[in-house]
Amino acid sequence: MKYMTEFRDGRIAEKISAALAVESKNNVRIMEFCGGHTISLLKYGIPDLLPESIEMVSGPGCPVCVTSKAEIDAAIELAWRPDVMLASFGDMIRVPGTKGSLRQAKAEGADVRIVYSPDDAVRLAKENREKKVVFFAVGFETTAPVTASSVKLAESLNLDNYFLLSAHKTTPAILAALLAEEINLDGFVCPGHVTAITGTEMYGILTDAGKPCVVSGFEPLDILSSILSIVRQINRGAAETEIEYSRIVAPEGNLHARRIMEDVFRPADAVWRGLGVVPASGFKPSGDYRRFNACEEFGIEIDMDEKETKGCICDSILRGLKKPPDCKLFKTACTPEDPVGACMVSDEGTCSVYYRFHRAQRVEPEIVPA
Ligand code: SF4
Repeated sequence: MKYMTEFRDGRIAEKISAALAVESKNNVRIMEFCGGHTISLLKYGIPDLLPESIEMVSGPGCPVCVTSKAEIDAAIELAWRPDVMLASFGDMIRVPGTKGSLRQAKAEGADVRIVYSPDDAVRLAKENREKKVVFFAVGFETTAPVTASSVKLAESLNLDNYFLLSAHKTTPAILAALLAEEINLDGFVCPGHVTAITGTEMYGILTDAGKPCVVSGFEPLDILSSILSIVRQINRGAAETEIEYSRIVAPEGNLHARRIMEDVFRPADAVWRGLGVVPASGFKPSGDYRRFNACEEFGIEIDMDEKETKGCICDSILRGLKKPPDCKLFKTACTPEDPVGACMVSDEGTCSVYYRFHRAQRVEPEIVPA
């Protein structure tokens, strides 16, 4: 608990809030890229501690939310093949594709297994040699090294029945895409766990465009400090990458994890829910590891023409253009129990976070009293 209580000190939060009130001179829009940050922001009521001049907007950093319908459809198609066992993380099975979800397919008899790690899927392959086990791999650079490691494990076990349906996404490519859309953003609270793997070099694309970046941890004081650092950079006309989360993140990232990831994967075009095709924003097994690619093994093409669900504005929410209460379906037709769009499915999805913590729904801040 030591580190948690240290980063939830109410007295320090008030001091940072007071500093922001004095130092924030112009209206600014700051994006928190990561769904984990969105949870902390809303759960701890951080927007209430900010002056009106600072608007926080959520970004596309929830892996479940950005997995396209076409990728879900491909997973369902594979799960229905008699020779396939489809392994997936639990939150993915509720995400709707164009023809239902993996959960529905499982209920109707498709072979869908819930796993807690890619290595669990390798174990399934080892124990079910008569089946082809396909792991539905999602996530950013935080999880991609673990998936890559599972491929190496399968190879070391001489398994010829383990495959990846890779829906992994990469952070630098989507940052570049957001910049290209010229969305009005003045700074970025950058994802701590992703940066712990990748290092900070990728934020050069943002700082070169004049956007301050601060790599943040997930406790309330982490985020408040990061916002203050961004405001201070803006005030002095700087655009630099700072690491607030230095207890976890090194500038060069995790070299070992990066090597494993780069060994197994190559960048590939990927389709993002609500955002469409983003060049080189996905990972596919390549080179010596190409035989693990489920799309090649089963002759599956991912449809790159992503269409949003009628009435759902996830596309604008993932771009930081709108917020969940702007959606007519929010809390009416769309709830965590019965989600219409992907942003309502995962605990880290912006709509789900707003549903649970926004204003009346928000729990009392857990900041430790001074
Ligand atoms: S509330 Fe539901 S329908 Fe509306 S944007 Fe969010 S996920 Fe989509």
